[in-house]
Amino acid sequence: PANPLTPHPPAWLAEGAPHLWLPYTQMQTTPMALPVVKTDGARLTLADGRELVDGISSWWTAAHGYNHPHIRTAVTAQLEKMPHVMLGGLAHEPACRLATRLSEKLPGDLGHVFFSESGSVSVEIAMKIAVQYWINKGVRGRTRFVSFKGGYHGDTLATMSVCDPDEGMHTLFKGAIAEQFICELPTDAEKEAALDAFLAAHAHEVAAVVTEPLVQGAGGMRFHDAATLKVLRALCDKHDMLLILDEIFTGFGRTGSMFACEQAGIVPDIVTLSKALTGGTMALAATIARAPIFEAFLGDDAGRALMHGPTYTGNPLACAAANASLDLFEREPRLEQVAAISAQLSRELEPARDIPGVKDVRVKGAIGAIELERMGDLNLMKRRFVEEGVWIRPFGNIVYTTPPLVTGEEDLARLTSAMLKITAETT
Ligand code: PLP
Repeated sequence: PANPLTPHPPAWLAEGAPHLWLPYTQMQTTPMALPVVKTDGARLTLADGRELVDGISSWWTAAHGYNHPHIRTAVTAQLEKMPHVMLGGLAHEPACRLATRLSEKLPGDLGHVFFSESGSVSVEIAMKIAVQYWINKGVRGRTRFVSFKGGYHGDTLATMSVCDPDEGMHTLFKGAIAEQFICELPTDAEKEAALDAFLAAHAHEVAAVVTEPLVQGAGGMRFHDAATLKVLRALCDKHDMLLILDEIFTGFGRTGSMFACEQAGIVPDIVTLSKALTGGTMALAATIARAPIFEAFLGDDAGRALMHGPTYTGNPLACAAANASLDLFEREPRLEQVAAISAQLSRELEPARDIPGVKDVRVKGAIGAIELERMGDLNLMKRRFVEEGVWIRPFGNIVYTTPPLVTGEEDLARLTSAMLKITAETT
């Protein structure tokens, strides 16, 4: 259907929209997507010239805002030299430098980096590494995973199996995906004891525990504290299970530290990164393993190797973008900006508690969420946000913002005031 917000869509949209199958979209009833023609800083420009303040950083990726000149220059230079080359049997500087720098920035001996192109696939690779780790060590039967209610790790068949099966987006596929153990996060002593007992009973068949550290994002912007992560690390050690932390959303400053696991002072056995890895410019993901995990794949036997190899693994353009993004984290005061955004979000979203129908208001790092008792008319809400000049996409019963980490005070105030106003209007 036509979109009342763009009564005169450009020809390329009018012609292309019937052929473009959009993600998470009911194509029959959802209004035509908005035509965006330019991005700059924390702004999106629509075809008719209107500017929107971006409140979600294009699915949480654009950490430095859009079109940062340093990333653009790095990618352009790499494009001149070598846009792509296979990583099988060949290597190149952008991938080597990025692997080295990620290893140096991550805690402990997380030092073995496997590149892929999407978050979901990086989690699948982590799951494959975990299963094969046990096989390579001569332990049979440890092929299953423990993950948590409210969790989200991707849309592929394997990653769907470790998402929350009831509240996530994947309920339909229950019969088609492997059945894993979905437990409650050990956020208090009682839940810790329950998880401890569960892991003890299933240790012989579990390869790894998988979770998002500190924030479960797509499952509803649910927060837990660092102590919960410490408990998970201790339980995995106790029951000799691998701990996979999915930092695809939380990595690169979003929760206030470069990586969320730093706040708990723990080192996972495997960590996954994507989204802001390239500062929101290119598709790239990484699965990074600790030394003992990597070493289990070494030996004279070719069968011990990791049999996985995405065609575009370690794409030089994407690695150049990621290296440039890391330069920016080193040179510019990103984490201080996150702290300032966090304080402003706390201050400005707090009054939402008084709006009837609001269940909770919470802020962690550069994430601000208003949880509703139940979502009203979602399409109306989305439309109203655009009319207010901001790009905010509520989901489930959550109205949230994850702005670029460079968002200025005024733009952020526009986001928070629109969140309050439209929440009040539509609940
Ligand atoms: N894991 C987490 C924590 C995510 O938030 C997401 C995406 O939202 C994914 C995995 C999947 O990443 P991708 O969409 O790049 O496949």
